[in-house]
Amino acid sequence: MAINNNTPCLVCGSATTPVAKAESFVCTFCGSSEQGRSKCPEGHFICEACQGKTALRVIEDLALSTTSKDPLAIAELMMAHPGLPMLGCEHASLVAGAFMAALKNSPYGSGKITNDDIHEAFKRTTKQAVSGHCGLTGVCGIAPAVGACFSIFLGARCGSDSEQKITMEAVIRVSRSIADLTGPSCCKAYARAAITEASNLFGERFGIILPVRSGAALCRHSGKHPHGCREEKCPYYQKPSRDIFAEAKFVPGMVCTS
Ligand SMILES: [Zn+2]
Ligand SMILES: [Zn+2]
Repeated sequence: MAINNNTPCLVCGSATTPVAKAESFVCTFCGSSEQGRSKCPEGHFICEACQGKTALRVIEDLALSTTSKDPLAIAELMMAHPGLPMLGCEHASLVAGAFMAALKNSPYGSGKITNDDIHEAFKRTTKQAVSGHCGLTGVCGIAPAVGACFSIFLGARCGSDSEQKITMEAVIRVSRSIADLTGPSCCKAYARAAITEASNLFGERFGIILPVRSGAALCRHSGKHPHGCREEKCPYYQKPSRDIFAEAKFVPGMVCTS
């Protein structure tokens, strides 16, 4: 059983509802069916095997198996795995994996982007994504992760012409979008911004439109931030809902007659 009775959903934190008899649920991450005894209102379920995986393994498996063409949706699913820490360079691999997977699944990547290319993006990313170095050198590992995606797509290498230039410009644009969200740092905000920026660049440079879902993703992780979430300063912050009339003298439906 992946989600125990009376415990919050491991994916979204919602209160789960116990079911009288074990039911078959589909794993949110791998799609396999397994018996469970409680339901998340949003339909999440994590099988035993996926619960036991490391975040990097889940990121790699999802990148290779997903059929989604939306890099942000793939990234959000990867972020939902409970093993992913709030901060850390797993997010660089997450960006590389989500973006390469969406590209592979798009009509433009069909037959051109392979699982070997996705593995190559992971390899290149982990060489330059070193935890804490966003503060120590000013380079967040997510920037070279996007660079790896562009480089693989273009076949860029040291000594190549416009391929290398376009790749470098992509890294600059992504670094800019990351710096705009800093103070303090947040790998999840960086990942979302980098994917959006990289998708925009693909449209501008190559006329390739990846269907990034409309509207900013709302973050479910702000309470876990070790340095304090930027809250209203972050475009992905989900404000707590409140009754806007609770402290107001105005009563809806009341008409002023004075
Ligand atoms: Zn859930
Ligand atoms: Zn699973």
